Amino acid sequence: MNVYDTNRMIDALVPHGYENISDIENADLILLNTCHIREKASEKLFSELGRMKELKERRKSNDKETLIGVAGCVAQAQGEEIMKRAPVVNLVFGPQSYHRLPEMVKKANDERVIDTQFPKEDKFDFLPKAKKSSTIKRGLTAFLTVQEGCDKFCTFCVVPYTRGVEQSRPVAAIIAEAKNLVAGGVREITLLGQNVNAYHGENEHGVATSLAKLLHRLAQIEGLERLRYTTSHPNDMGDDLIAAHGDLAQLMPYLHLPVQSGSDKILKSMNRSHTSKKYLNLIEKIKKARPDIAISGDFIVGFPGESDKDFEETINLIKQVGYSSAYSFKYSPRPGTPGALMQDQVPEPVRVERLARLQILLNEQQDEFNKNMVGQIMPVLIDKRGRVSGQIGGRSPYLQAVHFDGSPDLIGSIRDIKIIAGDRHSLKGELVRENGVEVV
Ligand code: SAH
Ligand code: SF4
Repeated sequence: MNVYDTNRMIDALVPHGYENISDIENADLILLNTCHIREKASEKLFSELGRMKELKERRKSNDKETLIGVAGCVAQAQGEEIMKRAPVVNLVFGPQSYHRLPEMVKKANDERVIDTQFPKEDKFDFLPKAKKSSTIKRGLTAFLTVQEGCDKFCTFCVVPYTRGVEQSRPVAAIIAEAKNLVAGGVREITLLGQNVNAYHGENEHGVATSLAKLLHRLAQIEGLERLRYTTSHPNDMGDDLIAAHGDLAQLMPYLHLPVQSGSDKILKSMNRSHTSKKYLNLIEKIKKARPDIAISGDFIVGFPGESDKDFEETINLIKQVGYSSAYSFKYSPRPGTPGALMQDQVPEPVRVERLARLQILLNEQQDEFNKNMVGQIMPVLIDKRGRVSGQIGGRSPYLQAVHFDGSPDLIGSIRDIKIIAGDRHSLKGELVRENGVEVV
């Protein structure tokens, strides 16, 4: 979502004469868009600000002013502290107020600015749409936020405090944004939300619309070949959404469905409000609707109170599901969350050891998933030249990177590729040709 937000920040500033550049030494304005989800992500900010201070001084000695801004969830949670600890920072603003960026930047030329209130107005009503040239530059795949914030209050998680309450954007605004992206060459859209499947935005008649219905609407947009959505909560996987996986050819057979733990005791203490059995039943139901679906997930090891037995239950759940990929983390106590105050915190060396074991298993599953692709033919959205000359590359329906020999003229199309080799991180394939002639 930070990638999406960053693009929208750029879109907000472009009409005011700003341009996105890759050479930081030439930037008049530097915005650091931050993540607060784990301590490691948060701490990166302060080390980065040290670098910014040197850069600002270097530019100053060449008579160039530099404005430094901190955006995102660390700004939301620790705005005052950032202002105190880092005098180099000119402006600080949270994830819900970046539509005000043009005025904030203007003001920051004269005084330090902090804006971490949750505004009454909806930022999406004020953000300009992306220019066609910007969309083209960003490539064939795009993110689109449809829902933000969360009311679930899992006891480990800061999201409800930093992103705020759950809010869904209206259907019409999403359709308009999707059409704008497609007009700029986008072929694949990933719908975003902290709890994307809790989406319930109003349609044109003021009626609450489910994510499944929204996907059906988006699937009608000509030129939009692929749809994905992330991240989903198991409790919000409605029957119509499961059915959509069987009904919509555009919806890719890949679902990110975090479970966090396989222990019911830990799930309860995390306030996840589902059991491991419920999760496993759900996966079964989804696989019935779409047999070739691949599942990815998120796991936290070392949540307070997690015993060896609880951890083994997570390992068992992973073995039962068989993930195509996954993200796994050591529990990181976040200030202000109930988990941080729980008594029986798991010692760091135990967290480290459990994470290593978990990742060995998840990596094995990913290796196996990729190896099983060998011999299969699958559609690849070709979006770039390969690193090796003569090669081009793209993404499979399962988000795997695929590379193969082919002409750069094919970039922008979806072609059938026969997979001939695979390792953990990428697949090698060849274009499917009929009678030695490339299929057009
Ligand atoms: N809404 C999604 C998750 C969003 S946060 C869901 O409910 O599944 C992304 C991931 O970060 C989470 O799935 C979780 O695995 C991880 N995470 C969140 N808070 C964490 C914490 N305090 N320590 C470690 N990992 C955390
Ligand atoms: Fe955080 Fe997801 Fe739980 Fe919401 S549902 S509190 S975003 S982990």
